[in-house]
Amino acid sequence: MDKKCILIVEDNELNRKLVRTLLHLGDYDILEAEDAETALQLARHEKPDLILMDIQLPGMDGLTATAQIKEDPELRNIPVVALTACAMPEDEKKAIDAGCNGYISKPIETRTFLDKVSSFLDCDIVSNTLERCN
Ligand code: MN
Repeated sequence: MDKKCILIVEDNELNRKLVRTLLHLGDYDILEAEDAETALQLARHEKPDLILMDIQLPGMDGLTATAQIKEDPELRNIPVVALTACAMPEDEKKAIDAGCNGYISKPIETRTFLDKVSSFLDCDIVSNTLERCN
């Protein structure tokens, strides 16, 4: 089976490094963007299987980027999982409202991260449904 490709959108270098390290353990192909604008370009060119989207980014924020992805017929079926700060539970609702298919809270729990990622890869995303997939 082909390796699944995951796009990490995260401006914080340490978080990005942690996610990258964990995804390498899971044997995924990895794309990285430090801002939403680059992420949208990469998503259009590479059509990743999953996008892990930080909310707070320089320039366009992750929720706006997610809304654009979900409005784009070419991209809307790619699951988008928000990386939300635990300290801000309202972010989770905002993330779902913006069209994210789920969220993973930060700080990232390294033991469960790969299981969560694979569950989001496995679930069928139907356009316009905003259900969490567990
Ligand atoms: Mn950030």
